[in-house]
Amino acid sequence: MNRRAFIQSVAALTGAIAVLPTLASAQERRRGSQAAAGATLVDPKDPAAKAVNYVHVTSEIKDAALKVERAGVKFEAQNCKNCAFYTADKETTVSGKKAAPCQMPFAAGKVVAATGWCSTWAKKS
Ligand code: SF4
Repeated sequence: MNRRAFIQSVAALTGAIAVLPTLASAQERRRGSQAAAGATLVDPKDPAAKAVNYVHVTSEIKDAALKVERAGVKFEAQNCKNCAFYTADKETTVSGKKAAPCQMPFAAGKVVAATGWCSTWAKKS
């Protein structure tokens, strides 16, 4: 390889490397919007969801031991929408319900209802 060809190769490689983060970012955004578009709600009957008492609507919680104040927030005011793990910037509508991904492992790849709740609820700061 002569000097000119070498310099052209390095320039092309440098340009490609500079573009990679932009492409990766665009792919990330596309994946995010596809996930929201075809989102599936977490099934409360799924064993991992049951383990944290997940429900689509807070009022479905009947166990009094779970209906307690957390971080100064009364149980009745706790829901996914105001939970620290709810990714509101990715909120979408699924089966007529506002929903978004939850950062907890049991909800990976799915979304939780804004009106939902689970026992790992944490106050949004
Ligand atoms: S961790 Fe928060 S957002 Fe996720 S299901 Fe539980 S209450 Fe909802």
